[in-house]
Amino acid sequence: MSQSISDLAAHCIRCGFCLESCPTFVVTGKETESPRGRIYLIRSADAGAMDWNNGVEEHIDTCVGCRACETACPSGVDYGALLELAREKMESQRGHFGKKALLAGITKPGLLRTQLAISRLVPGKRMPALVSRFLTNDAPEADKPTAQPPATWSALNTETLPPVAGQVGLLTGCAMKVLYPRVHEATRRLLRRVGFEAMNIDGCCGALHAHNGYLGKAQQMADHLVAGMPQIPLIINSAGCGSFLKEHLADSEKKLDIFDISEFLFKNGLGELLAQAPGLNIKATYHDACHLAHGQGIRSQPRELLKSIPGLQLEELNEADMCCGSGGIYNLTQPRLARQLLDRKWSNVENTTAEIIVTGNPGCHAWIAQAATEHGGQRKVFHTAEILEAAFSGQELLL
Ligand code: SF4
Ligand code: SF4
Repeated sequence: MSQSISDLAAHCIRCGFCLESCPTFVVTGKETESPRGRIYLIRSADAGAMDWNNGVEEHIDTCVGCRACETACPSGVDYGALLELAREKMESQRGHFGKKALLAGITKPGLLRTQLAISRLVPGKRMPALVSRFLTNDAPEADKPTAQPPATWSALNTETLPPVAGQVGLLTGCAMKVLYPRVHEATRRLLRRVGFEAMNIDGCCGALHAHNGYLGKAQQMADHLVAGMPQIPLIINSAGCGSFLKEHLADSEKKLDIFDISEFLFKNGLGELLAQAPGLNIKATYHDACHLAHGQGIRSQPRELLKSIPGLQLEELNEADMCCGSGGIYNLTQPRLARQLLDRKWSNVENTTAEIIVTGNPGCHAWIAQAATEHGGQRKVFHTAEILEAAFSGQELLL
């Protein structure tokens, strides 16, 4: 990343076209919680007219990093890059112990598994208040994470599959590897269905670090992740990781083709195969993960694939691309605003007749699933890959 804060902020012409797309402005109505207001504060702090830690950081902390403002901006402000640089400045001055500890705990699979085991011994379904206090003065809103049961699908029948045309890397990641093994298995099966064998690329890409102000470490993690991998396409089924790696590996020595899973499957003919699949008799709606829609511009491919499933009825969600409030670790660091955004998302879900909500990012998956449970558990949340694979392997295998 070569541009400075002042270069990036200079593109803002203060027109305000971004305001109504910004979830934190929409729920608070405050200019300081809007993209335009935040850019003004960042520019002022960068120029020395304000202190990062006095009157600026609280408004940068409340930014969920969804990048909806980039989609709306007619002036091409690269708000995501600006936010990463601003947070790096802030963190270099304040050093947030709680956030560092949380990131370390989430992004190391062994540590995360240990924490899950310990958390099961602690009564209550919410994150323990003791842990939450290191991150915020507000009461915790997020439930303790739980890992998905592994997939029980029977082996693929190789006689019905196309010949192997090539190999791809599948980023198994950190938290995703522990919490969503079935999503990874569905991803591998779908890749094989379109003729590709998946090789696991294990490790954390650094996206959560970058989004929280540790940009240098994040870049090291991204470079390290891909250093040893062969020159094959890298497939990612977590929107936040995909968006980060596409941007931060663009200038690195290793030139990789990086794809979100929905993008790759669409490009490689899964839609045609789905039309011949047994299908699913189900009503679905689709939530755009911010880092898929705003970060990568991927909106049509997952929808087209879902619409190709025989029997599946896809109903559009109002405000489908407005953030649900998960935001990586945002629902832990800003629980009040995250809850407001989740409630708004859920009321939009309730205005549909959908039985399932489909999305392409683990954070949204867990957070919206929490709302589904809180509202009686009749509706379920799935990753796009799980639904696409269930269209071939059977709906009952999801439930
Ligand atoms: S839309 Fe773009 S240029 Fe206009 S205020 Fe928002 S960030 Fe600035
Ligand atoms: S990234 Fe999202 S929350 Fe932050 S200013 Fe932009 S639209 Fe608002």
